[in-house]
Amino acid sequence: MAVQGPRIYADVNAVVGGYLRDLAFAQSSQQKMFGYKRAAAAIFALDTPLTDLIGPDGAWPKIAGIGPGSARVIREVLETGGSPTVEQAIEASNRPADIQRRRQLRRHFLSRAEVRRILSDPSFAGPTIEQYLGDLQMHSEWSDGSSTVQDIADACLERGYQYSAVTDHSYGLKIAGGMSMAEALQQRNAIDAVNARCGHQFRLLQGIEANIDAAGQLDLTDDQAATFDVVLAAPHSRLRRSEDQTDRMLSAVAHQAVRILAHPRGRITGSRAGVIADWNAVFAAAAERNVAIEIDGDPARQDLDHTLAASALAAGCLFALDSDAHTTTQLSYAETALAHARLAGIPAERIVNCWPLDRLLGWLATPSSERRP
Ligand SMILES: [Zn+2]
Repeated sequence: MAVQGPRIYADVNAVVGGYLRDLAFAQSSQQKMFGYKRAAAAIFALDTPLTDLIGPDGAWPKIAGIGPGSARVIREVLETGGSPTVEQAIEASNRPADIQRRRQLRRHFLSRAEVRRILSDPSFAGPTIEQYLGDLQMHSEWSDGSSTVQDIADACLERGYQYSAVTDHSYGLKIAGGMSMAEALQQRNAIDAVNARCGHQFRLLQGIEANIDAAGQLDLTDDQAATFDVVLAAPHSRLRRSEDQTDRMLSAVAHQAVRILAHPRGRITGSRAGVIADWNAVFAAAAERNVAIEIDGDPARQDLDHTLAASALAAGCLFALDSDAHTTTQLSYAETALAHARLAGIPAERIVNCWPLDRLLGWLATPSSERRP
């Protein structure tokens, strides 16, 4: 039998996108910086690897957002694997150290084309897209998202999901339009109305993304947390500190209401590393309490990535694979999470979004102190 395991190919779009990001930060003009950032984003979001877009005569189709400067970088990378143009621009800029720091913060990020390749490669042991039954982190108009709960349910049904959870921010996170408990009650009524319309075809759960404060406590009381179908806890502050924050994350995992530790590090590609912690200790505690560890599929987060996810798998953790969508067009971000799960070789059995609704609800209804793997 063939040995299955992570098979990493050169993700050419991620390499090119990275060089274009470098070039953006080497610019002194704001306008040029934004132009190269847009070009980088366009390449990261392409469905197809650049190498497949080029015709036999070396001609390539027009790509929206790619001007002559970016095209030159693409050509250099495809021909040589690197970009002398970008390296020279970095040296000539006044921020070479900052650009090197940002490079380190792009590790293990997958481009959209690479995500698609991984999902269609049958040699990976992880979950297939058909096994994925629902998304457990999404934001609606009730906090910082833009869609109504009905729009979300319709978009989930279109993707073939059997259930999903809307998980708006709780009231402690003012910057993200966190919901008051009075608003949460109104949202519950809106979700009940959606479920009445969907019948047995689909079930929308009311979740909440609670904020983990500096001490590892949540911005919800136990009684408030108990009104939601699923409680995610996630860090949104102290994400640029160099000190260890293991105790903070252990406190969050130990909270009896928490079912999912969402975007555990809070990293952002090319910008910040997020929480520094002894992740093996956090994963061991999560496994002990049957708290699921999230793989957040937002392309800028990819948190956990497949390397840390493999450690969580070894620790015996459950997983939740989520889009963290803020519009219905972002529901496809769940595929980024699926790709990392496939690279890490996580069996579908360990992924709560691959469970049928009854099993998911049973897990959610069991207090973590009573839950044992
Ligand atoms: Zn969040």
